[in-house]
Amino acid sequence: MSDAPTITLNNGVVMPQLGFGVWQVPDDEATAAVGHALEAGYRSIDTAAVYENEVGTGRALAASGLPREELFVTTKVWNSEQGYDSTLRAFDASLERLGLEYVDLYLIHWPMPMFDTYVETWRALEKLYADGRARAIGVSNFKPAQLRRLAEETATVPALNQVELHPTLQQGELRAYHREHSVVTEAWSPLGQGKDILADPVIGAIAERHGRTPAQVILRWHLQLGNVVIPKSVTPSRIRENINVFDFALDEADMASIAGLDTGTRLGPDPDEMDWRG
Ligand code: NAD
Repeated sequence: MSDAPTITLNNGVVMPQLGFGVWQVPDDEATAAVGHALEAGYRSIDTAAVYENEVGTGRALAASGLPREELFVTTKVWNSEQGYDSTLRAFDASLERLGLEYVDLYLIHWPMPMFDTYVETWRALEKLYADGRARAIGVSNFKPAQLRRLAEETATVPALNQVELHPTLQQGELRAYHREHSVVTEAWSPLGQGKDILADPVIGAIAERHGRTPAQVILRWHLQLGNVVIPKSVTPSRIRENINVFDFALDEADMASIAGLDTGTRLGPDPDEMDWRG
């Protein structure tokens, strides 16, 4: 079993730096996938209401027999549920589907600035935190402008911001803002969705030198930058491969080479333009 290193959030809650993401895993496959991840040593699971696999995820958590306090479960309020009362209702529904009494981290999935409801949505998360139903609260896909607005209008700094981040989109400006304001950076699509970056020759050369795979090199790069990562796979061997990254280190030259791969290219939507509400 692999023990992931941990990160301490700005409210003192400790979370694994490497977890398991389940976007695009159908509900009936989520139980097996999360089960494999827990067996491989993952203790942090990232789901969302819109992934429609909270039920399957919750079944795997229950079947594992692991004590609740050893697990770190994240879920998110979907765009169509933003607003104070609707977020509280959405949270209740997520807990029910997961079969849990509380979550470790609850996130606003996208800011949806055109709705102008993320501040009141955030106040609902503050209430859930005050009631002890979410041990930490954070955001996802927020840019500095939206983080600044939360800082000006509310009393709680998000513990974490989960954003698209991989070698071709390194988010330097956002990471600097996070560092300055004690917000942890969590990388979604940390492997660039398994697309071109895994075949990049720079990554390939580093992987060969360390006797590792390209996926392991990229995950190691994230960990050394201080990012929390949540790679996804449904293949047991890859699930194990992706957590087997705590016993080697990239050197300064490797880190510099990967820094050179940043092209600022997104795989997902720009959060300011994201308009998926359904
Ligand atoms: P990812 O970067 O984790 O890539 C996953 C894909 O890479 C897999 O489907 C597979 O094709 C491939 N892969 C995985 N391990 C591999 C290995 N060892 N070798 C070769 N190929 C491998 O992409 P993702 O699923 O988009 O992101 C991870 C998680 O981030 C999601 O599951 C979800 O939990 C979260 N996420 C959040 C948001 C958000 O808006 N907050 C958006 C997207 C994803």
